[in-house]
Amino acid sequence: MPVTTHVKFGAFLAETPADLSAAALIGAKGTVQLAELPAVTASSVFAAVDANATAPLHLAEEHGSAPASVTVWATHDDKLIPVAFSQFAKETSRHMAIVRTDSVRDVANKVVPAKGNALLVVRVESAAQAYAAGLAVARNWPLYSRKTGAESTERTVYVDFVVADESAVDYDELNAVAAAIRDVQRRVDTPCSELNTVTYVEEVRALVERLDDPTVSIKVIQGEELKEQGFGGIYGVGKAAEFPPALVILSRVPENADKTLALVGKGIVYDSGGLSLKPTSGMVGMKGDMGGSAAVLGAFEAIVATKAAPETAVHALLCLAENAIDGKSFKNDDILHMYSGKTVEINNTDAEGRLVLADGVAYATQHLNPDVVIDMATLTGAQLITTGIIHAGIVTDSEEVETTVLKSGKATGDLVFPMLYAPEILKSQFDSPVADMKNSVKDRMNAQSSCAAHFVQAHLAKDYKGAWLHVDIAGPAEAASRGTGFGAALLYEFAKQF
Ligand SMILES: [Zn+2]
Repeated sequence: MPVTTHVKFGAFLAETPADLSAAALIGAKGTVQLAELPAVTASSVFAAVDANATAPLHLAEEHGSAPASVTVWATHDDKLIPVAFSQFAKETSRHMAIVRTDSVRDVANKVVPAKGNALLVVRVESAAQAYAAGLAVARNWPLYSRKTGAESTERTVYVDFVVADESAVDYDELNAVAAAIRDVQRRVDTPCSELNTVTYVEEVRALVERLDDPTVSIKVIQGEELKEQGFGGIYGVGKAAEFPPALVILSRVPENADKTLALVGKGIVYDSGGLSLKPTSGMVGMKGDMGGSAAVLGAFEAIVATKAAPETAVHALLCLAENAIDGKSFKNDDILHMYSGKTVEINNTDAEGRLVLADGVAYATQHLNPDVVIDMATLTGAQLITTGIIHAGIVTDSEEVETTVLKSGKATGDLVFPMLYAPEILKSQFDSPVADMKNSVKDRMNAQSSCAAHFVQAHLAKDYKGAWLHVDIAGPAEAASRGTGFGAALLYEFAKQF
Protein backbone atom coordinates (compact mmCIF):
# COMPACT_ATOMS: atom_id res chain seq x y z
CA MET A 1 0.00 0.00 0.00
CA PRO A 2 1.60 3.30 -1.05
CA VAL A 3 1.96 5.63 1.93
CA THR A 4 2.99 9.21 1.21
CA THR A 5 4.86 10.65 4.19
CA HIS A 6 4.93 14.36 4.92
CA VAL A 7 7.70 15.54 7.23
CA LYS A 8 7.06 18.64 9.36
CA PHE A 9 9.38 20.37 11.83
CA GLY A 10 7.86 22.52 14.59
CA ALA A 11 7.36 23.08 18.30
CA PHE A 12 5.30 19.92 18.59
CA LEU A 13 6.41 19.17 22.15
CA ALA A 14 4.71 22.39 23.24
CA GLU A 15 1.65 21.73 21.11
CA THR A 16 1.15 18.04 20.45
CA PRO A 17 -0.54 17.22 17.14
CA ALA A 18 -3.82 15.31 17.41
CA ASP A 19 -4.32 11.85 15.96
CA LEU A 20 -0.90 10.35 16.63
CA SER A 21 -0.39 6.63 16.15
CA ALA A 22 3.09 6.58 17.65
CA ALA A 23 5.77 8.69 19.29
CA ALA A 24 9.50 8.26 19.73
CA LEU A 25 12.40 9.91 21.49
CA ILE A 26 15.93 9.43 20.22
CA GLY A 27 19.23 10.86 21.43
CA ALA A 28 22.96 10.22 21.24
CA LYS A 29 24.19 7.18 23.13
CA GLY A 30 24.19 7.87 26.85
CA THR A 31 21.75 10.79 26.69
CA VAL A 32 18.35 9.15 26.37
CA GLN A 33 18.31 7.06 29.51
CA LEU A 34 19.84 9.72 31.75
CA ALA A 35 18.04 11.80 34.33
CA GLU A 36 16.78 14.22 31.67
CA LEU A 37 14.33 11.68 30.38
CA PRO A 38 11.60 12.26 32.98
CA ALA A 39 11.76 15.99 32.12
CA VAL A 40 11.11 15.22 28.49
CA THR A 41 8.34 12.81 29.31
CA ALA A 42 6.69 15.44 31.49
CA SER A 43 5.67 17.50 28.48
CA SER A 44 2.81 16.92 26.04
CA VAL A 45 2.44 13.37 24.78
CA PHE A 46 5.10 12.17 27.15
CA ALA A 47 3.10 13.51 30.08
CA ALA A 48 1.14 10.30 29.83
CA VAL A 49 4.27 8.27 30.31
CA ASP A 50 4.46 7.85 34.06
CA ALA A 51 7.54 7.09 36.08
CA ASN A 52 7.11 3.40 35.37
CA ALA A 53 7.47 4.01 31.66
CA THR A 54 11.14 4.86 31.93
CA ALA A 55 11.83 1.92 34.18
CA PRO A 56 13.03 -0.44 31.44
CA LEU A 57 15.81 1.95 30.46
CA HIS A 58 16.93 2.66 34.00
CA LEU A 59 16.74 -1.01 34.82
CA ALA A 60 18.91 -1.85 31.84
CA GLU A 61 21.37 0.84 32.83
CA GLU A 62 21.65 -0.53 36.35
CA HIS A 63 22.43 -3.93 34.93
CA GLY A 64 25.10 -2.42 32.71
CA SER A 65 23.61 -3.00 29.26
CA ALA A 66 21.98 -0.16 27.40
CA PRO A 67 19.21 -1.53 25.19
CA ALA A 68 19.09 -0.53 21.53
CA SER A 69 15.50 0.49 21.94
CA VAL A 70 12.66 0.28 24.44
CA THR A 71 8.98 0.75 23.70
CA VAL A 72 6.38 1.69 26.31
CA TRP A 73 2.70 2.46 25.89
CA ALA A 74 1.18 5.83 26.72
CA THR A 75 -2.27 7.32 26.59
CA HIS A 76 -2.71 10.03 23.98
CA ASP A 77 -6.15 11.43 23.01
CA ASP A 78 -7.80 8.55 24.90
CA LYS A 79 -5.97 5.84 23.01
CA LEU A 80 -2.87 3.86 23.77
CA ILE A 81 0.08 4.58 21.50
CA PRO A 82 3.60 3.12 21.49
CA VAL A 83 6.40 5.44 22.59
CA ALA A 84 9.84 4.24 21.54
CA PHE A 85 13.12 5.31 23.12
CA SER A 86 16.31 4.74 21.19
CA GLN A 87 19.86 5.95 20.78
CA PHE A 88 22.06 6.93 17.87
CA ALA A 89 25.85 6.76 17.66
CA LYS A 90 27.79 9.48 19.46
CA GLU A 91 31.35 9.43 18.07
CA THR A 92 32.00 12.20 15.55
CA SER A 93 35.64 12.35 14.47
CA ARG A 94 37.37 15.06 12.43
CA HIS A 95 35.84 14.37 9.05
CA MET A 96 32.28 13.68 10.20
CA ALA A 97 29.32 16.01 10.77
CA ILE A 98 28.58 17.85 14.02
CA VAL A 99 26.17 15.06 14.88
CA ARG A 100 26.13 11.47 13.60
CA THR A 101 23.71 12.12 10.74
CA ASP A 102 24.11 8.61 9.29
CA SER A 103 23.09 7.01 12.57
CA VAL A 104 20.32 9.56 13.26
CA ARG A 105 18.75 8.70 9.92
CA ASP A 106 18.90 4.94 10.51
CA VAL A 107 17.57 5.09 14.06
CA ALA A 108 14.73 7.49 13.12
CA ASN A 109 13.74 5.10 10.35
CA LYS A 110 13.61 2.20 12.82
CA VAL A 111 11.59 3.89 15.57
CA VAL A 112 8.98 5.59 13.37
CA PRO A 113 6.39 3.06 12.15
CA ALA A 114 5.75 2.83 8.40
CA LYS A 115 2.14 4.01 8.68
CA GLY A 116 0.14 6.53 10.71
CA ASN A 117 0.98 9.97 12.07
CA ALA A 118 3.95 9.97 14.38
CA LEU A 119 5.81 12.38 16.65
CA LEU A 120 9.60 12.06 16.65
CA VAL A 121 11.58 13.96 19.28
CA VAL A 122 15.33 14.20 18.80
CA ARG A 123 17.49 15.09 21.77
CA VAL A 124 20.56 17.13 20.70
CA GLU A 125 23.16 19.42 22.29
CA SER A 126 22.52 22.56 20.23
CA ALA A 127 20.30 24.12 17.54
CA ALA A 128 23.16 23.57 15.07
CA GLN A 129 22.99 19.84 15.81
CA ALA A 130 19.20 19.96 15.49
CA TYR A 131 19.60 21.36 11.96
CA ALA A 132 21.92 18.55 10.78
CA ALA A 133 19.89 15.87 12.60
CA GLY A 134 16.62 17.21 11.16
CA LEU A 135 17.97 17.12 7.60
CA ALA A 136 19.10 13.53 8.23
CA VAL A 137 15.66 12.49 9.49
CA ALA A 138 13.94 14.10 6.48
CA ARG A 139 15.83 11.82 4.08
CA ASN A 140 13.79 8.84 5.27
CA TRP A 141 10.44 8.11 3.54
CA PRO A 142 11.26 9.24 -0.07
CA LEU A 143 8.28 10.46 -2.08
CA TYR A 144 8.58 8.63 -5.40
CA SER A 145 6.60 5.40 -5.74
CA ARG A 146 4.60 3.67 -8.45
CA LYS A 147 3.55 0.75 -6.29
CA THR A 148 -0.08 -0.24 -6.74
CA GLY A 149 -2.41 -2.05 -4.38
CA ALA A 150 -4.88 -0.88 -1.78
CA GLU A 151 -5.87 2.75 -1.59
CA SER A 152 -2.95 5.11 -1.11
CA THR A 153 -2.76 7.00 2.16
CA GLU A 154 -1.01 10.06 3.48
CA ARG A 155 0.50 10.54 6.88
CA THR A 156 2.73 13.05 8.66
CA VAL A 157 5.86 12.58 10.73
CA TYR A 158 6.11 15.55 13.11
CA VAL A 159 9.64 16.28 14.29
CA ASP A 160 10.69 18.36 17.29
CA PHE A 161 13.85 18.66 19.36
CA VAL A 162 14.96 18.76 22.97
CA VAL A 163 17.98 21.09 22.79
CA ALA A 164 20.34 20.75 25.77
CA ASP A 165 21.86 24.25 25.53
CA GLU A 166 18.41 25.75 24.86
CA SER A 167 19.50 27.52 21.65
CA ALA A 168 16.53 28.19 19.33
CA VAL A 169 15.80 25.92 16.38
CA ASP A 170 14.82 27.67 13.12
CA TYR A 171 11.90 25.42 12.15
CA ASP A 172 11.05 27.46 9.01
CA GLU A 173 14.53 26.99 7.59
CA LEU A 174 14.50 23.28 8.42
CA ASN A 175 11.14 22.83 6.70
CA ALA A 176 12.33 24.66 3.56
CA VAL A 177 15.68 22.88 3.22
CA ALA A 178 14.14 19.49 4.05
CA ALA A 179 11.46 20.04 1.37
CA ALA A 180 14.19 20.84 -1.17
CA ILE A 181 16.13 17.68 -0.20
CA ARG A 182 12.98 15.57 -0.64
CA ASP A 183 12.40 17.15 -4.07
CA VAL A 184 15.96 16.14 -5.04
CA GLN A 185 15.25 12.58 -3.88
CA ARG A 186 12.04 12.44 -5.89
CA ARG A 187 13.74 13.68 -9.08
CA VAL A 188 16.65 11.26 -8.69
CA ASP A 189 14.28 8.32 -8.09
CA THR A 190 12.09 9.15 -11.11
CA PRO A 191 12.99 7.06 -14.19
CA CYS A 192 13.76 8.57 -17.58
CA SER A 193 10.39 7.40 -18.94
CA GLU A 194 8.87 10.13 -16.77
CA LEU A 195 11.71 12.58 -16.20
CA ASN A 196 13.22 13.22 -19.63
CA THR A 197 14.87 16.43 -20.80
CA VAL A 198 11.50 17.95 -21.78
CA THR A 199 9.47 17.05 -18.66
CA TYR A 200 12.44 18.11 -16.51
CA VAL A 201 12.34 21.60 -18.04
CA GLU A 202 8.55 21.69 -17.48
CA GLU A 203 9.10 20.79 -13.83
CA VAL A 204 11.66 23.59 -13.45
CA ARG A 205 9.24 26.10 -15.02
CA ALA A 206 6.49 24.95 -12.63
CA LEU A 207 8.88 25.40 -9.69
CA VAL A 208 9.68 28.96 -10.81
CA GLU A 209 5.91 29.72 -10.91
CA ARG A 210 5.46 28.21 -7.46
CA LEU A 211 8.36 30.19 -5.97
CA ASP A 212 6.69 33.35 -7.32
CA ASP A 213 9.64 35.66 -6.60
CA PRO A 214 10.20 38.78 -8.76
CA THR A 215 14.00 38.43 -8.43
CA VAL A 216 13.91 35.00 -10.11
CA SER A 217 14.16 34.46 -13.87
CA ILE A 218 14.63 31.47 -16.16
CA LYS A 219 16.26 31.05 -19.56
CA VAL A 220 16.19 27.81 -21.55
CA ILE A 221 18.43 27.03 -24.53
CA GLN A 222 17.18 23.85 -26.16
CA GLY A 223 17.86 21.44 -29.04
CA GLU A 224 19.16 23.04 -32.25
CA GLU A 225 19.61 26.39 -30.46
CA LEU A 226 22.41 24.74 -28.50
CA LYS A 227 24.15 23.78 -31.73
CA GLU A 228 23.70 27.24 -33.24
CA GLN A 229 25.09 28.93 -30.12
CA GLY A 230 28.14 26.66 -29.92
CA PHE A 231 27.31 24.30 -27.05
CA GLY A 232 29.09 21.38 -28.71
CA GLY A 233 29.33 19.40 -25.47
CA ILE A 234 25.68 19.41 -24.38
CA TYR A 235 24.43 19.14 -27.97
CA GLY A 236 26.90 16.41 -28.91
CA VAL A 237 25.97 14.22 -25.94
CA GLY A 238 22.22 14.74 -26.20
CA LYS A 239 21.49 14.97 -29.93
CA ALA A 240 20.67 11.27 -30.46
CA ALA A 241 17.90 11.05 -27.84
CA GLU A 242 14.15 11.17 -28.42
CA PHE A 243 13.96 14.43 -26.44
CA PRO A 244 16.31 17.36 -27.13
CA PRO A 245 19.12 18.39 -24.76
CA ALA A 246 18.79 21.70 -22.89
CA LEU A 247 20.72 24.20 -20.83
CA VAL A 248 18.49 25.76 -18.16
CA ILE A 249 19.74 28.94 -16.50
CA LEU A 250 17.90 29.97 -13.34
CA SER A 251 18.85 33.29 -11.76
CA ARG A 252 17.99 34.90 -8.42
CA VAL A 253 19.38 38.42 -8.50
CA PRO A 254 18.50 40.60 -5.47
CA GLU A 255 18.61 44.36 -6.10
CA ASN A 256 21.54 44.98 -3.76
CA ALA A 257 23.58 41.91 -4.73
CA ASP A 258 27.31 42.48 -4.30
CA LYS A 259 28.63 38.99 -5.04
CA THR A 260 27.74 36.15 -7.37
CA LEU A 261 27.62 32.39 -7.08
CA ALA A 262 27.12 30.10 -10.10
CA LEU A 263 26.06 26.47 -9.59
CA VAL A 264 26.37 24.06 -12.51
CA GLY A 265 24.80 20.59 -12.38
CA LYS A 266 25.20 17.48 -14.53
CA GLY A 267 21.75 16.47 -15.72
CA ILE A 268 22.14 13.25 -17.70
CA VAL A 269 18.55 11.95 -17.42
CA TYR A 270 19.76 8.55 -18.56
CA ASP A 271 23.27 7.32 -19.22
CA SER A 272 23.47 4.22 -21.40
CA GLY A 273 27.15 5.01 -21.93
CA GLY A 274 26.36 5.89 -25.55
CA LEU A 275 28.22 3.87 -28.18
CA SER A 276 30.75 3.01 -25.43
CA LEU A 277 27.80 1.05 -24.07
CA LYS A 278 27.68 0.18 -20.38
CA PRO A 279 27.19 -3.47 -19.38
CA THR A 280 23.73 -4.12 -17.85
CA SER A 281 25.13 -4.16 -14.32
CA GLY A 282 26.63 -0.70 -14.82
CA MET A 283 23.58 0.73 -16.55
CA VAL A 284 20.95 -0.11 -13.92
CA GLY A 285 20.38 2.96 -11.79
CA MET A 286 21.58 5.42 -14.44
CA LYS A 287 18.27 7.30 -14.14
CA GLY A 288 20.11 8.98 -11.25
CA ASP A 289 22.87 10.44 -13.43
CA MET A 290 21.09 13.78 -13.21
CA GLY A 291 21.69 13.97 -9.44
CA GLY A 292 24.06 16.94 -9.72
CA SER A 293 21.48 19.04 -11.55
CA ALA A 294 18.78 17.96 -9.07
CA ALA A 295 20.97 19.07 -6.16
CA VAL A 296 21.73 22.42 -7.82
CA LEU A 297 18.01 22.92 -8.42
CA GLY A 298 17.21 21.91 -4.83
CA ALA A 299 19.75 24.41 -3.46
CA PHE A 300 18.28 27.15 -5.66
CA GLU A 301 14.78 26.23 -4.45
CA ALA A 302 15.82 26.45 -0.78
CA ILE A 303 17.78 29.71 -1.26
CA VAL A 304 14.79 31.40 -2.90
CA ALA A 305 12.24 29.96 -0.44
CA THR A 306 14.16 31.19 2.64
CA LYS A 307 15.52 34.35 0.93
CA ALA A 308 18.95 33.18 2.08
CA ALA A 309 22.18 35.02 1.21
CA PRO A 310 20.27 38.23 0.37
CA GLU A 311 23.41 39.97 -0.92
CA THR A 312 24.32 37.18 -3.32
CA ALA A 313 23.18 36.72 -6.90
CA VAL A 314 22.71 32.98 -7.41
CA HIS A 315 22.63 31.27 -10.80
CA ALA A 316 21.73 27.60 -11.22
CA LEU A 317 22.67 26.01 -14.54
CA LEU A 318 21.22 22.61 -15.38
CA CYS A 319 23.00 20.80 -18.21
CA LEU A 320 20.33 18.36 -19.42
CA ALA A 321 20.85 15.56 -21.94
CA GLU A 322 20.19 11.86 -22.41
CA ASN A 323 23.21 9.81 -23.45
CA ALA A 324 21.32 7.56 -25.88
CA ILE A 325 22.13 5.29 -28.82
CA ASP A 326 20.88 6.07 -32.31
CA GLY A 327 22.27 6.64 -35.81
CA LYS A 328 22.87 10.24 -34.73
CA SER A 329 24.89 9.38 -31.59
CA PHE A 330 28.22 11.10 -31.11
CA LYS A 331 31.00 8.61 -31.69
CA ASN A 332 34.45 7.78 -30.46
CA ASP A 333 36.98 9.70 -32.65
CA ASP A 334 34.48 12.55 -33.21
CA ILE A 335 35.79 16.00 -32.33
CA LEU A 336 33.36 18.24 -30.43
CA HIS A 337 33.67 22.02 -30.61
CA MET A 338 32.96 23.17 -27.07
CA TYR A 339 31.41 26.43 -25.80
CA SER A 340 34.84 27.32 -24.35
CA GLY A 341 36.27 27.39 -27.88
CA LYS A 342 38.34 24.25 -27.24
CA THR A 343 38.12 21.07 -29.32
CA VAL A 344 37.70 17.66 -27.68
CA GLU A 345 38.47 14.33 -29.33
CA ILE A 346 36.09 11.67 -27.99
CA ASN A 347 37.77 8.47 -26.80
CA ASN A 348 34.95 7.35 -24.50
CA THR A 349 31.31 8.33 -25.08
CA ASP A 350 30.57 7.21 -21.51
CA ALA A 351 32.70 10.09 -20.17
CA GLU A 352 29.87 12.44 -21.14
CA GLY A 353 29.19 14.23 -17.86
CA ARG A 354 32.36 16.32 -18.08
CA LEU A 355 31.37 17.38 -21.63
CA VAL A 356 28.03 18.89 -20.55
CA LEU A 357 29.58 20.41 -17.40
CA ALA A 358 32.38 21.96 -19.49
CA ASP A 359 29.80 23.87 -21.54
CA GLY A 360 27.97 24.86 -18.34
CA VAL A 361 31.02 26.31 -16.56
CA ALA A 362 32.18 27.96 -19.80
CA TYR A 363 28.83 29.76 -20.12
CA ALA A 364 28.79 30.71 -16.42
CA THR A 365 32.31 32.15 -16.41
CA GLN A 366 31.93 33.95 -19.76
CA HIS A 367 28.58 35.60 -19.07
CA LEU A 368 27.62 35.59 -15.36
CA ASN A 369 30.78 36.99 -13.73
CA PRO A 370 30.73 34.71 -10.66
CA ASP A 371 33.05 35.03 -7.64
CA VAL A 372 32.78 31.26 -7.25
CA VAL A 373 31.61 28.69 -9.80
CA ILE A 374 30.71 25.25 -8.50
CA ASP A 375 30.04 22.21 -10.65
CA MET A 376 28.35 19.17 -9.12
CA ALA A 377 27.96 15.76 -10.70
CA THR A 378 27.64 12.02 -10.30
CA LEU A 379 30.84 11.88 -12.31
CA THR A 380 33.27 9.04 -11.61
CA GLY A 381 33.05 5.58 -10.03
CA ALA A 382 36.58 6.25 -8.82
CA GLN A 383 35.22 8.90 -6.44
CA LEU A 384 33.87 6.06 -4.28
CA ILE A 385 37.35 4.58 -4.04
CA THR A 386 38.87 7.98 -3.22
CA THR A 387 36.47 9.35 -0.57
CA GLY A 388 33.87 6.66 0.01
CA ILE A 389 30.11 6.35 -0.19
CA ILE A 390 29.21 9.00 2.43
CA HIS A 391 31.69 11.78 1.54
CA ALA A 392 31.64 13.52 -1.85
CA GLY A 393 35.04 14.20 -3.40
CA ILE A 394 35.93 17.84 -3.98
CA VAL A 395 38.58 19.52 -6.13
CA THR A 396 39.16 23.27 -5.90
CA ASP A 397 41.78 25.85 -6.78
CA SER A 398 41.01 27.83 -3.60
CA GLU A 399 41.96 26.85 -0.06
CA GLU A 400 39.39 29.33 1.27
CA VAL A 401 36.60 27.68 -0.74
CA GLU A 402 37.82 24.27 0.42
CA THR A 403 37.56 25.36 4.07
CA THR A 404 34.09 26.81 3.54
CA VAL A 405 32.68 23.76 1.78
CA LEU A 406 34.17 21.40 4.40
CA LYS A 407 32.38 23.46 7.06
CA SER A 408 29.14 23.46 5.04
CA GLY A 409 29.33 19.68 4.87
CA LYS A 410 29.79 19.24 8.61
CA ALA A 411 26.90 21.61 9.31
CA THR A 412 24.43 19.82 7.01
CA GLY A 413 25.55 16.19 6.94
CA ASP A 414 26.30 16.48 3.20
CA LEU A 415 29.90 15.56 3.89
CA VAL A 416 32.81 16.23 1.53
CA PHE A 417 36.53 15.54 1.48
CA PRO A 418 39.29 17.08 -0.71
CA MET A 419 40.86 15.24 -3.62
CA LEU A 420 44.16 16.05 -5.34
CA TYR A 421 44.43 19.44 -7.08
CA ALA A 422 47.36 19.30 -9.50
CA PRO A 423 46.36 20.28 -13.05
CA GLU A 424 49.95 20.82 -14.18
CA ILE A 425 50.86 17.14 -13.72
CA LEU A 426 47.49 15.64 -14.63
CA LYS A 427 46.51 17.53 -17.77
CA SER A 428 48.72 15.35 -20.00
CA GLN A 429 46.24 12.54 -19.27
CA PHE A 430 44.02 14.14 -21.91
CA ASP A 431 46.64 14.72 -24.66
CA SER A 432 45.23 14.28 -28.17
CA PRO A 433 47.17 14.18 -31.47
CA VAL A 434 44.37 15.95 -33.37
CA ALA A 435 42.41 18.12 -30.90
CA ASP A 436 43.06 20.31 -27.85
CA MET A 437 42.25 17.40 -25.56
CA LYS A 438 40.59 14.00 -25.31
CA ASN A 439 37.64 13.42 -22.97
CA SER A 440 38.91 10.34 -21.14
CA VAL A 441 42.18 9.63 -19.35
CA LYS A 442 45.13 7.65 -20.64
CA ASP A 443 45.78 5.92 -17.30
CA ARG A 444 42.82 5.03 -15.08
CA MET A 445 45.19 4.36 -12.15
CA ASN A 446 46.33 7.97 -11.90
CA ALA A 447 43.92 10.07 -9.79
CA GLN A 448 41.19 9.80 -12.39
CA SER A 449 38.53 11.61 -10.30
CA SER A 450 40.84 14.62 -10.08
CA CYS A 451 41.60 14.30 -13.80
CA ALA A 452 37.87 14.47 -14.59
CA ALA A 453 37.65 17.61 -12.48
CA HIS A 454 40.61 19.18 -14.31
CA PHE A 455 38.91 18.41 -17.62
CA VAL A 456 35.98 20.59 -16.53
CA GLN A 457 38.34 23.25 -15.17
CA ALA A 458 40.07 23.51 -18.57
CA HIS A 459 36.87 25.05 -19.96
CA LEU A 460 36.59 28.01 -17.56
CA ALA A 461 36.80 31.34 -19.37
CA LYS A 462 40.45 32.30 -20.00
CA ASP A 463 40.07 35.62 -18.17
CA TYR A 464 38.07 34.15 -15.27
CA LYS A 465 39.37 35.52 -11.95
CA GLY A 466 37.02 33.82 -9.48
CA ALA A 467 37.37 30.50 -7.67
CA TRP A 468 36.27 27.10 -8.90
CA LEU A 469 34.96 24.09 -6.96
CA HIS A 470 34.14 20.66 -8.34
CA VAL A 471 31.98 18.24 -6.31
CA ASP A 472 31.84 14.59 -7.40
CA ILE A 473 28.79 12.99 -5.74
CA ALA A 474 28.83 9.60 -7.50
CA GLY A 475 28.90 7.78 -4.14
CA PRO A 476 26.74 9.77 -1.72
CA ALA A 477 23.93 10.67 -4.20
CA GLU A 478 22.29 7.28 -3.69
CA ALA A 479 22.02 4.64 -1.00
CA ALA A 480 20.17 1.31 -1.30
CA SER A 481 18.92 2.29 -4.79
CA ARG A 482 17.21 5.48 -3.56
CA GLY A 483 18.23 9.10 -3.91
CA THR A 484 19.66 10.58 -0.71
CA GLY A 485 19.05 14.20 -1.71
CA PHE A 486 22.78 14.82 -1.32
CA GLY A 487 24.12 18.24 -2.34
CA ALA A 488 21.17 20.61 -2.00
CA ALA A 489 21.82 21.43 1.67
CA LEU A 490 25.58 21.59 1.05
CA LEU A 491 25.22 24.22 -1.68
CA TYR A 492 22.53 26.07 0.27
CA GLU A 493 24.86 26.30 3.27
CA PHE A 494 27.80 27.30 1.07
CA ALA A 495 25.74 30.15 -0.42
CA LYS A 496 25.07 31.41 3.12
CA GLN A 497 28.70 31.11 4.25
CA PHE A 498 30.91 32.06 1.29
ZN1 LIG B 1 28.64 8.09 -18.61
